[in-house]
Amino acid sequence: MSQLSDPAFVRGLLARHDLRLAKSMGQNFLINPSVCPRMAQACGAGHCRGVIEIGPGIGVLTWELAQAAEKVVAIELDRRLFPVLEETLADCPNVELVQGDVLKLDLAALIAERFGGGPVCVCANLPYYITSPVIMGLLEAGLPLTAITVMVQKEAAQRLCAPPGVRACGAVSVSVHYHCQPQVLFQVGRGSFLPPPKVDSAVIRLDMRPQPPVAVEDPALLFRTARGAFAQRRKTAANSLSASLGLPKPLVEQALAGAGLPPAARAEQLTLEQFAALANQLGKQERVE
Ligand code: SAM
Repeated sequence: MSQLSDPAFVRGLLARHDLRLAKSMGQNFLINPSVCPRMAQACGAGHCRGVIEIGPGIGVLTWELAQAAEKVVAIELDRRLFPVLEETLADCPNVELVQGDVLKLDLAALIAERFGGGPVCVCANLPYYITSPVIMGLLEAGLPLTAITVMVQKEAAQRLCAPPGVRACGAVSVSVHYHCQPQVLFQVGRGSFLPPPKVDSAVIRLDMRPQPPVAVEDPALLFRTARGAFAQRRKTAANSLSASLGLPKPLVEQALAGAGLPPAARAEQLTLEQFAALANQLGKQERVE
């Protein structure tokens, strides 16, 4: 439905349904007509069992996904949008709407029930207030996914895609690079949305890896280690880890030494391989203690 990118049409649609957009739910709708077709094409919708969309809004991206995919399941929190979606997606029999909070839904069960177990891809213009928990949840739940293509705030895109060991990285980069190969696809200016947000955006694609690139005995400990080391990023990794994980500093220093790392190393200097070695050493220490 190409009219969904026309601001006058969207305003009329919202007025007809007596709907005021809720800032608290990140409701900035795409009105740049070139963005949704690009996202639908880039997400690999034609190469998997279907697509999960998070936050369809009034259905502008959903409609494009429905043209490219066998099936689309769109998860929307805001009940008020359902009458609008039933109207805008009336010509898309392959779309199923699910009301709920994506952070609370059992996505493994949803994929099993609605996609016969997958694999599926995810494509969304994410509400920015839940970008990290959504992406971390998708990555760490072990879901049968091929790729995650999402629009996020530009700065979040840079952090998510930055490899561990460079300044722009964060704890989230460790998890992203462990699970997938990320890339920034294209930038989207704030004027592409109704209403325009205060920040610019970017579309990223995370291609799931068949195998992790490093060997870790306990992946959950790797992610805890990364979160702990970055918790106080101005401090050394030893101080930050010791404070946030509640571990004695000598034990953390011993683990750093065992991983071949200097005691003053900072989280942002550690590569994925070094985080893996550190997590494996911390795991050993925990077993010894
Ligand atoms: N896909 C539409 C577009 O591109 O124009 C809307 C994107 S808008 C940035 C984010 C959407 O996510 C809104 O429709 C909002 O109601 C929905 N949303 C917010 N929090 C959510 C949550 N926890 N679970 C599911 N949907 C959510």
